[in-house]
Amino acid sequence: MSPRYITADWIYPVTSPRIFQGVIVIEGERITGITSRDLIDTDLLEYHKGILIPGFINSHCHLELSHLKGRIPTGTGLLEFIKGVVSLREVSQDEIDAAIEEADAYMWSKGIQAVGDICNKPDTFSVKRRSKIKYYNFVEMFDFLQESRTDELTRGYKDAFALAPEPKSAVPHAPYSVSPGLFAQINQLNSGKVTVSIHNQELKAEEDLFVSGGGDFYSFYSRFGMNLDHFQHTGQSSIYYGLKHMDPEHRTLFVHNTLTLQKEVEDAHEWNSNVFWATCANANLYIENKLPDYFAFINTGALMTIGTDSLSSNWQLSILEEMKTITKYQSRILFDTLLQWATINGARALGMDDQLGSLEIGKQPGIILLNYNPDEDNLADQKVEVRRLI
Ligand SMILES: [Zn+2]
Repeated sequence: MSPRYITADWIYPVTSPRIFQGVIVIEGERITGITSRDLIDTDLLEYHKGILIPGFINSHCHLELSHLKGRIPTGTGLLEFIKGVVSLREVSQDEIDAAIEEADAYMWSKGIQAVGDICNKPDTFSVKRRSKIKYYNFVEMFDFLQESRTDELTRGYKDAFALAPEPKSAVPHAPYSVSPGLFAQINQLNSGKVTVSIHNQELKAEEDLFVSGGGDFYSFYSRFGMNLDHFQHTGQSSIYYGLKHMDPEHRTLFVHNTLTLQKEVEDAHEWNSNVFWATCANANLYIENKLPDYFAFINTGALMTIGTDSLSSNWQLSILEEMKTITKYQSRILFDTLLQWATINGARALGMDDQLGSLEIGKQPGIILLNYNPDEDNLADQKVEVRRLI
């Protein structure tokens, strides 16, 4: 197969400075050269208007919830949101399967190369085995802090874990829903170099539960027949409970972090040098209408990644739309910074940076065209779109 010579106004390798009118040489799907236009015969060049970037990495998704698109109202807060998800069970398996298939194809068309995907069930596994997208399967477990019932409450998740395609790990859902005993079981299930994700500091009730032993979780859990009488609050925010019980030997991805403070980011970095943070801006706006303090992360050199969360809490599964939303609410974050979050950092978080996340010789990262002029356009207010070239 003869190589393709793809060029645009700028190429953004991500791990090195951008190149004006650069050329990417591609054989099959692999990059075999990065050069400039004057070195290539004009007739061979494939010209595009805009910028070329590597495929996006979606570090947090729940593909299996795709059938819930548009079914849950926005702005209710997380606890009402969960009640909404739980009450919507009467959907046929055919409908669930079709929505998963459609969402997978949509993400590919929107330039997404790999996804860190939360699974509670095996519903997505057959689509993933066929997909062009690379998936990291985070098989999520929770026991609502009911340690006496952990085995009964997590049997289905352990079955899903056994069936999940590689790469995979067992992961805790969130500090407020995983007992110390279940954390220990999860640590045992994970061997070798894996990534573990956890939903973190997403709502005030979570902080209330751990800091003061009060708040809305008591009534929330009692509604589901669980009681928290045995729960002993720690006096510290929820992330410290996670740090105490998770294995610092694993790459760890904290998700949402809408209430996380700079000191907590620093303490997590102290705990483990392989810590990543996922922001899901549209989902945060959808559910709690609050975004993280991004500068608490930027100021500490944190490795930020971008996730879409699920279609139950987002209008679409598009990393570009997440970048637009972050730019709209926090215009001081530069495009180059967001692009790192959206590509190489996510690839590192999923352990896929040997092939994905940057335009480098030898990698097969996907080639994405954005109709965007980084020196003139504002990402937030113009109609920038993704076109997948490779
Ligand atoms: Zn999530």
